[in-house]
Amino acid sequence: MIGQPNASHFVNGKYVEDTSGQELDVIYPATGEVIARLHEASRQLIDQTIHQAVRAQKMWAAKSGAERGRILRRAADLIRERNRDLSVLETYDTGKPLQETLVADATSGADALDYFGGLAANLAGEHIQLGNDWVYTRREPLGLCVGIGAWNYPTQIACWKAAPALACGNAMIFKPSEETPLCALKIAEILSEAGLPPGIFNVLQGRGKVGEALINDPKVDKVSLTGSVPTGRRVYAMAAAGMKHVTMELGGKSPLIIFDDADLDEAVSGAILGNFYSSGQVCSNGTRVFVQTGIKEAFLKRLQERVANAIIGDPQNESTNFGPLINARQLDIVQNYIATGKSEGARLLYGGEIIDRPGNWITPTVFADITDDMTIAIEEIFGPVMAVLDFETEAEVIARANTTEFGLAAGVFTNDLKRGHRVIAQLEAGSCFINSYNDAPVEAPFGGVKQSGVGRENSKAAIEHYSQLKSVYVRMTPIEAPY
Ligand code: NDP
Repeated sequence: MIGQPNASHFVNGKYVEDTSGQELDVIYPATGEVIARLHEASRQLIDQTIHQAVRAQKMWAAKSGAERGRILRRAADLIRERNRDLSVLETYDTGKPLQETLVADATSGADALDYFGGLAANLAGEHIQLGNDWVYTRREPLGLCVGIGAWNYPTQIACWKAAPALACGNAMIFKPSEETPLCALKIAEILSEAGLPPGIFNVLQGRGKVGEALINDPKVDKVSLTGSVPTGRRVYAMAAAGMKHVTMELGGKSPLIIFDDADLDEAVSGAILGNFYSSGQVCSNGTRVFVQTGIKEAFLKRLQERVANAIIGDPQNESTNFGPLINARQLDIVQNYIATGKSEGARLLYGGEIIDRPGNWITPTVFADITDDMTIAIEEIFGPVMAVLDFETEAEVIARANTTEFGLAAGVFTNDLKRGHRVIAQLEAGSCFINSYNDAPVEAPFGGVKQSGVGRENSKAAIEHYSQLKSVYVRMTPIEAPY
């Protein structure tokens, strides 16, 4: 396979193999074939990586922001130059169509490295004058950060976490999902080639236990997780025991609200992208599509016509635009939700069929006439299953949209400018869209409220989550001691 990494781990500036750890088979989701065999990190390798990263971080933090930024931006350039190879690898890792990975993965990672590389030279504290005395603040790194990734965007997640962490002068140990371990290794290799000193960005493979060992080590200062809400609760609790900083990018069941006055085809495009991109395996997807009754029939008709045009097939073929699910377990979960939807009385409008070929394939699925109490309107499915719900009034849809434990994203389609802003302002979600869905430019903060997460990735806001302020009082006037 093109550009496959050379060993399981990347530690202290080089590839490292450690066959004492349990084997991890990497399976291509489109065919079920084993494409690589890696090993989990052993306790000894974890300890050694932490030790070297802690030492390296001090020297990295001592460099100027401009120097750190140059290295990150050089890495961004290398990623862009190698976008095709990295995209092919991302497709092998995840099964997502090359048509998507060419534009959404390595390129998004490069954007993050460029953006935070640019910000690095601007990181500063402030000066607060207090008469003749003053206070100044120093913006300092947290130290050693651990990043733990989900399997849907392995390159993007590694870069979204590494870029702000490294820009602020931290070191990072990244543990990819065991399902998609390959891409982060290439990012480590490229960062190293761009001049990143050894020990600053390391990749260790393994299941949840490796993540736990990293989180529980007292030398680790911060944990940034992208994963499900149940994993988030466990990771947050472990981090709390050590009073560590956290960023939690977790799951969602986001509302996408389509008013009668919306542009029909634009709204259908938003619903398709917000449900079927990456075969529905996107945390911020708008999986509860609320459609006002006046536009409902036209919407469902157009949606059905357009979903039928999905090109399902070999993900490495650039004309394919709908790929497989990550693994057999996820396929099982999605099938069970579809069966539950049917048994609870939802109307299956389209899809829901297993495709008879090796790998984990199911057609894009649309349910209509969904009610708020149905399981598929409540739980995150993380697969290509759209639930269409009807609504009559603005007040009603806002209340129903907010009736969920999640709060990651929300979208509104309307041509009424005032209504768009008014509705978005009342939705309980961190990442919102008006007449669009799922855009995630690096300039915009990304993250959830309620159970969907803590903290923000991307934008200037991420700097707050990878640095801390030291305040220094400087006295120029005599100290007045009472005795
Ligand atoms: P999981 O929560 O199952 O796993 C996430 C990561 O955590 C994996 O690397 C996993 O390792 C690791 N992990 C699992 N248990 C532990 C533990 N006890 N301690 C430390 N690490 C652990 O999520 P998935 O990989 O299945 O991804 C899907 C979920 O991620 C969905 O809920 C989705 O919404 C969410 N997500 C959120 C995003 C966001 O930005 N808000 C973006 C993308 C996805 P292992 O692989 O071995 O299980």
